[in-house]
Amino acid sequence: MTAEDEKRLILLAAIISVGGSGSKKKVLDEVQHAGLMKFSPYDLQTRASRNELNWRNDLAYIRDHLVKEGHVSSAQWNSWTLTEKGKEYFASLAARLVSQRHFQHFNQETISAISALASDQQLSDDNALSGETALVEGHQTQRWTNTYERNPQLRAAAIRIHGVVCMGCGFNFEAKYGAIGSGFIEVHHTKPISSLGGAASVDPTADLVVLCSNCHSIVHRKRPSPLSLEALRTLVKDQG
Ligand SMILES: [Zn+2]
Ligand SMILES: [Zn+2]
Repeated sequence: MTAEDEKRLILLAAIISVGGSGSKKKVLDEVQHAGLMKFSPYDLQTRASRNELNWRNDLAYIRDHLVKEGHVSSAQWNSWTLTEKGKEYFASLAARLVSQRHFQHFNQETISAISALASDQQLSDDNALSGETALVEGHQTQRWTNTYERNPQLRAAAIRIHGVVCMGCGFNFEAKYGAIGSGFIEVHHTKPISSLGGAASVDPTADLVVLCSNCHSIVHRKRPSPLSLEALRTLVKDQG
C-alpha cells in the first residue's frame, strides 16, 4: 500500500463516517474527529500559499483523483459523495490493511477506526449475501460477520424462538447491565453458508442460536467453520 493509497483510504473512510456524503469541511474535519489519520509534522504545517494545513490540502488533491476514477461523485458542488464503485474500492483498500505492517499515516488506533467503518459498511450492504466472511482481520483481532446473522427478520425470529439469554453461557445482558441491556443479544448462524440457498432457507429454530458477545467472538475464533454450540457449552462447563 503506497502513501497515496493510505490517503485514499482515509478520505473514503471519512466520507463513510459522515454518512456517505458531506462538504469538504465536514469530511476533512471528520478525518480528525474520527481519528482516521496519523499526522506527520509535515501534515500539520500550514501551506502558506493556500492558508491550509498540508494534510487537508493533500486530501483535497486525492479527492480529485477519486472523482476522475468514479469513486467519488462530483455531481453536486462542494459535496463529496461516495459512489457504489467507491464503496467497493474502500472495502478492497481496507482489506489490504490486514497484510501490511508498515504505514506512513496509520497506527493501531487509526487502523481500528478504519476497520470498524469497513465492518459497518459491510453490515449495511444488503447485497452481500456472501455469508460468513472474514471482513476485517486486525493485527490482533478477527471480526467475522454473517449476512444471515444481520437479517432483521431472521434476528427477530431467532430472538422470539430462543430468547435473549446466551445459549452458550447463560449470560443475560439485562441482568448484568439493567435497562440498557434489555433485549440485547447476538444472533449466530451455525450452518456452513455454502449449503444454503438464501435467507428463505434458514430455519431460525435449527440454524440460528443466540449468544452473548463474548461467546459469539469465541465461536468465530475457530476457522474456517465456527465452534458448534455443543463444543462451546463444553468449553464453558469445563472452564467454569
Ligand atoms: Zn455467552
Ligand atoms: Zn456468528
